[in-house]
Amino acid sequence: MIRPNPFKICCSKCSFEKLIWFKSDALTDLDFKQVPDVCPKCGNTKFNRKAISIEEAMAKEHFDNMIQSFKNIFKKVFKG
Ligand SMILES: [Zn+2]
Repeated sequence: MIRPNPFKICCSKCSFEKLIWFKSDALTDLDFKQVPDVCPKCGNTKFNRKAISIEEAMAKEHFDNMIQSFKNIFKKVFKG
């Protein structure tokens, strides 16, 4: 399986940026939904694309997963 290279999209107006890293070369609708048309922060529609290294993407993905785990833990704690 070939995984396409990761890249970042950065809002040209504000500091919003998002890591785009498709899970495989077989792209689905879900993969394309990762890519926002409009900046969720300022509504700008112009994004700059920046290529990033696999290492950077993996670090970012790992970090995001960690944040998600923490969120899940907090959800559990505050529900009960
Ligand atoms: Zn923006």
